[in-house]
Amino acid sequence: MNCRAAEGMVTRYMDHTLSIKELEEFLEHVQSCSSCYEELETYFIVQQAMVQLDEEEEEESAVLDLQHLLEQDLKKSRRYIRKKKLEQILTAALFIILIAALIAFFAFAIQELSQFL
Ligand SMILES: [Zn+2]
Repeated sequence: MNCRAAEGMVTRYMDHTLSIKELEEFLEHVQSCSSCYEELETYFIVQQAMVQLDEEEEEESAVLDLQHLLEQDLKKSRRYIRKKKLEQILTAALFIILIAALIAFFAFAIQELSQFL
């Protein structure tokens, strides 16, 4: 992923509308590209500051807290990716087990039936 693609995803990251694959590539890029990380941080801080204004919370040392919040948000996103991937693997595994069980059942049924034919 290049910087232009990553910058285009910043607002979608904030809106949580990136697909798992996009999110993964975005996080990977942001982790290794300081200018995109700063871009994300700026958007994130502005957004969070507006949320805080809406909630009429105190602004003391808010910016420092917000940087910490972004780190947490990124960690949360990585956990989300891991969880989704695990779900996909488990779903695939369940599907394979189901198919294998069906095949075993039919093989058994055919064998039993053939004794009567
Ligand atoms: Zn970049």
